[in-house]
Amino acid sequence: QHLSPAVASTATSYPTTHDKIQDVQDTPYFIDNQFLNSATSEFIDLHDPATNNLVTRVPQNTDDELRAAVASAEKAFTSWKTTSVLHRQAIMFRFVALIRENWDRLAASITLEQGKTFADAKGDVLRGLQVAEAACAAPELLKGEVLEVAKDMETRTYREPLGVVAAICPFNFPAMIPLWCIPIATVTGNTLVLKPSERDPGAALILAELVAAAGFPPGVVNVVHGAHRAVNFILDDPTIKAVSFVGGNAAGEYIFARGSAAGKRVQANLGAKNHAAVLPDCNKNQFLNAIVGAAFGAAGQRCMALSTLVMVGETKGWLPELAERAAALRVDAGFEPGADLGPVISPASKARIEGLIASAEQEGATILLDGRGVKPEKYPHGNWVGPTIISDVTPAMKCYTEEIFGPVLVCLSVDTLDDAIDLINANDYGNGVAVFTRSGPTAEEFRRRIQAGQVGINVPIPVPLPMFSFTGNKKSVAGGGASTFYGRPGVNFYTQTKTVTSLWVGEDAVGKKADVAMPTHN
Ligand code: NAD
Repeated sequence: QHLSPAVASTATSYPTTHDKIQDVQDTPYFIDNQFLNSATSEFIDLHDPATNNLVTRVPQNTDDELRAAVASAEKAFTSWKTTSVLHRQAIMFRFVALIRENWDRLAASITLEQGKTFADAKGDVLRGLQVAEAACAAPELLKGEVLEVAKDMETRTYREPLGVVAAICPFNFPAMIPLWCIPIATVTGNTLVLKPSERDPGAALILAELVAAAGFPPGVVNVVHGAHRAVNFILDDPTIKAVSFVGGNAAGEYIFARGSAAGKRVQANLGAKNHAAVLPDCNKNQFLNAIVGAAFGAAGQRCMALSTLVMVGETKGWLPELAERAAALRVDAGFEPGADLGPVISPASKARIEGLIASAEQEGATILLDGRGVKPEKYPHGNWVGPTIISDVTPAMKCYTEEIFGPVLVCLSVDTLDDAIDLINANDYGNGVAVFTRSGPTAEEFRRRIQAGQVGINVPIPVPLPMFSFTGNKKSVAGGGASTFYGRPGVNFYTQTKTVTSLWVGEDAVGKKADVAMPTHN
């Protein structure tokens, strides 16, 4: 079977360059632990963002193929749900070990298809791997509760799987986001149909191979491809009980509404505009390095990228130094040693980002560092945008109101901490936020009053590790953020609580007359 380069590789042999691929293969889909070639005639070309060379063609699975994936998951659920949690835990331990063995290979597929640097791609894998590791605690996480609620009477709870669940993933974390879903959905006894981003499905398919190698039975994890049509299929199929979505607001709000209307559980993490408030008493050197890393790492294509600075008081005078450090970053293809940031995902994304920089210029902001036109000599055809810093920004400007999702930092200035908190709280998004200060009381005041769901105190990207949960707020989540990814809330999302109340009736404990009033529990 011919497989695309990302999938055909092995733990010891995987792509390490951006050289043109001579024999381009289509990306397979994955059902019943087997890679299959789609019968579709509709494909999406996938290009290496550093060169725009064709890497693979991603099929848009036909309705029959999508149906087959759901049927496979439905069939597998019958026996998978009855396996013991210790059995599922043992498979998860093997899955964890295999991800570690294939770590570089997964990262290489990400660098090739998504564009981020190899070092950053390894972090992408790690943050997903940590969710799989945390899922190994399933026997503890799935324990129910019990209480003697009256004489001879007790109530117990069980966490039961939902059935077939689905995941719809974004392009920016090709390993991490599938791994937010695969381990917790399966270890809790569900079976899964996963649709990776059509822009970089390679890592998800390597994970699928590792799923089979770890001993997951056929059908527990299936991977299908496509865009809107595949998503609508998932939303409308009555067999699918829950949908996990991570991506932008346009798709996510639609998916939440349509999936919820179809009676499914939906968890949806959406876009962001993450702010940092910078106080004059902070450790300036730490702040400068933290912001440069958090704004421009992964070419700004992280949902928790720190894209907006609120400079309080005299700190606005620090911007030239910030620009100096940002300008020193090396923009290069992801496999090049020493690359700090790679290209953005597509020519369309580059054009959109450059359009937003131009709009800021037109609206009267200052382009303190201009990344337009930056490109490494060796890779003239990539989707390059260099680190860009826009100052003198006001809240009405388009570069402030829109998520840029590129290596662009917008900077506003205010006089006081109160002004900074008001400005940040007035923003529609509420994913992450940071405050830079050495004052405990200032940090505490900020923490209490700020409305974002994930707060960093001198930490620029405060993504909670998987023993906690990813807790976005406001427009950064659909449905008010009631269902969050991973951690205990992740286990709750993928399980239904059953509550059982029992009376242990002794022979002589029952009187002759029925009791018609509600018990008063004296
Ligand atoms: P996207 O919304 O374009 O795509 C996400 C998924 O939805 C893909 O699988 C895609 O096929 C599908 N999709 C896209 N448009 C659709 C539509 N109109 N109807 C149905 N399905 C559709 O997102 P993206 O560009 O891949 O990812 C970047 C976005 O994801 C950014 O907004 C970023 O902030 C967000 N994101 C958020 C988090 C978080 O946890 N909050 C994490 C990562 C990324």
